[in-house]
Amino acid sequence: MFDDDWSADMEAIEAERLDADLLQAEMERAAADYQAQLEIYKRTGDPNDCPHGSGVGYVDPPVYEEQKQLKPGEFFCWTCRTVMPDPLLAD
Ligand SMILES: [Zn+2]
Repeated sequence: MFDDDWSADMEAIEAERLDADLLQAEMERAAADYQAQLEIYKRTGDPNDCPHGSGVGYVDPPVYEEQKQLKPGEFFCWTCRTVMPDPLLAD
Protein backbone atom coordinates (compact mmCIF):
# COMPACT_ATOMS: atom_id res chain seq x y z
CA MET A 1 0.00 0.00 0.00
CA PHE A 2 2.68 2.42 1.06
CA ASP A 3 4.78 1.46 -1.93
CA ASP A 4 1.88 2.10 -4.30
CA ASP A 5 1.29 5.56 -2.87
CA TRP A 6 4.94 6.34 -3.04
CA SER A 7 5.26 5.29 -6.67
CA ALA A 8 2.06 7.17 -7.55
CA ASP A 9 3.55 10.29 -5.98
CA MET A 10 6.76 9.79 -7.88
CA GLU A 11 4.81 9.36 -11.09
CA ALA A 12 2.94 12.57 -10.40
CA ILE A 13 6.20 14.40 -9.76
CA GLU A 14 7.70 12.89 -12.88
CA ALA A 15 4.64 13.90 -14.92
CA GLU A 16 4.90 17.45 -13.61
CA ARG A 17 8.55 17.58 -14.53
CA LEU A 18 7.70 16.25 -17.98
CA ASP A 19 5.02 18.94 -18.38
CA ALA A 20 7.55 21.60 -17.41
CA ASP A 21 10.02 20.19 -19.92
CA LEU A 22 7.37 20.16 -22.63
CA LEU A 23 6.38 23.71 -21.81
CA GLN A 24 10.02 24.77 -21.92
CA ALA A 25 10.50 23.00 -25.25
CA GLU A 26 7.33 24.60 -26.59
CA MET A 27 8.55 28.06 -25.56
CA GLU A 28 11.95 27.44 -27.11
CA ARG A 29 10.30 26.23 -30.31
CA ALA A 30 8.06 29.30 -30.41
CA ALA A 31 11.11 31.53 -29.88
CA ALA A 32 12.98 29.70 -32.64
CA ASP A 33 9.98 30.02 -34.97
CA TYR A 34 9.83 33.72 -34.20
CA GLN A 35 13.54 34.17 -34.93
CA ALA A 36 13.25 32.19 -38.17
CA GLN A 37 10.28 34.31 -39.27
CA LEU A 38 12.17 37.48 -38.34
CA GLU A 39 15.09 36.35 -40.50
CA ILE A 40 12.71 35.83 -43.43
CA TYR A 41 11.29 39.29 -42.91
CA LYS A 42 14.79 40.82 -42.79
CA ARG A 43 15.52 39.20 -46.15
CA THR A 44 12.28 40.11 -47.91
CA GLY A 45 11.32 43.32 -46.10
CA ASP A 46 7.72 42.31 -46.76
CA PRO A 47 5.39 43.13 -43.84
CA ASN A 48 3.47 39.94 -44.68
CA ASP A 49 6.58 38.02 -43.61
CA CYS A 50 6.94 39.94 -40.35
CA PRO A 51 6.17 37.95 -37.18
CA HIS A 52 4.74 41.18 -35.65
CA GLY A 53 6.30 40.17 -32.36
CA SER A 54 6.55 43.58 -30.76
CA GLY A 55 4.39 46.61 -31.12
CA VAL A 56 1.71 48.67 -29.48
CA GLY A 57 -2.06 48.49 -29.50
CA TYR A 58 -4.57 51.30 -29.53
CA VAL A 59 -4.66 53.26 -26.31
CA ASP A 60 -6.33 56.54 -25.43
CA PRO A 61 -4.51 58.77 -24.79
CA PRO A 62 -1.62 57.52 -26.97
CA VAL A 63 1.72 56.96 -25.28
CA TYR A 64 3.79 56.76 -28.44
CA GLU A 65 3.62 58.95 -31.52
CA GLU A 66 2.79 55.85 -33.57
CA GLN A 67 -0.31 55.15 -31.49
CA LYS A 68 -1.98 58.39 -32.57
CA GLN A 69 -2.85 56.88 -35.95
CA LEU A 70 -4.48 53.81 -34.40
CA LYS A 71 -8.16 53.15 -34.09
CA PRO A 72 -9.58 50.84 -31.40
CA GLY A 73 -8.63 47.23 -32.17
CA GLU A 74 -5.59 48.19 -34.23
CA PHE A 75 -1.95 47.39 -33.57
CA PHE A 76 1.27 49.04 -34.70
CA CYS A 77 4.26 46.74 -35.22
CA TRP A 78 7.66 48.21 -34.37
CA THR A 79 9.43 45.77 -36.65
CA CYS A 80 7.66 46.34 -39.97
CA ARG A 81 6.02 49.63 -38.94
CA THR A 82 2.62 48.75 -40.28
CA VAL A 83 -0.84 49.00 -38.75
CA MET A 84 -2.94 45.85 -38.52
CA PRO A 85 -5.85 44.44 -36.54
CA ASP A 86 -4.59 43.78 -33.01
CA PRO A 87 -3.49 40.10 -32.95
CA LEU A 88 -4.27 39.95 -29.22
CA LEU A 89 -7.90 40.66 -29.96
CA ALA A 90 -8.20 38.00 -32.68
CA ASP A 91 -10.18 34.88 -31.87
ZN1 LIG B 1 5.36 43.46 -38.13
